[in-house]
Amino acid sequence: MPIYVYECQKCSHEFEVYQNIGEGNENLTCPECGAKTPKKLVTPFKTLFWSGFLDDMERKISPHKFK
Ligand SMILES: [Zn+2]
Repeated sequence: MPIYVYECQKCSHEFEVYQNIGEGNENLTCPECGAKTPKKLVTPFKTLFWSGFLDDMERKISPHKFK
């Protein structure tokens, strides 16, 4: 499962969440203050080992992005 980074819109706390691809923020809450629907950040994990795996997944799910 890929990791996404979210930022709390209330306290600006950033945290990582394991989510299925395409899952939204509706069911997420900030671990610090409990505020709902945090903002998704663009993940800065291009150098981590699983970024290649993520790219592969995206290629399979959204091949039009890579043409
Ligand atoms: Zn918060």
